[in-house]
This record gives sequence, structure tokens and C-alpha cells, in this order.
Amino acid sequence: MNNKDEKICPLCGERNACQVGTSNQCWCHTIKVPQDLLDKIPQEKKGKACICYLCIKEYLQHQKIK
Ligand SMILES: [Zn+2]
Ligand SMILES: [Zn+2]
Repeated sequence: MNNKDEKICPLCGERNACQVGTSNQCWCHTIKVPQDLLDKIPQEKKGKACICYLCIKEYLQHQKIK
């Protein structure tokens, strides 16, 4: 099985540093990912790959600016 995709952010294509599958709890379980971002994930990647922290941070910053 090739689960490399799960380590790549589906939005920016960079490594998402996801900890799922290790003994550590992934940071993505403690942060609430905005629904807008979830909607941008391609259907086949949904529920598999985590969005990276940078994408979430960037999104939240844009929200504040407006
Ligand atoms: Zn990203
Ligand atoms: Zn994760």
C-alpha cells in the first residue's frame, strides 16, 4: 500500500506533518479545520490527508483581514 498521499497536504502539496498512525496524537485532531477548507479538498482525498498547518493559518489570517 502506498499511503504517501496521506502525508501531503491536499491543498498546497507540501508535507502536512500529520502524526496520524504514530503514537503521537496529530495536531489536526486538536484544531478545528474551517469547513471552507474542507470543502476545497478533492473528493478522493477527503478523510485521508490532513490539511497542513500553514494552510489553516493562512486561511484564518485572511478571515481576520476582511
Ligand atoms: Zn497546505
Ligand atoms: Zn493529521
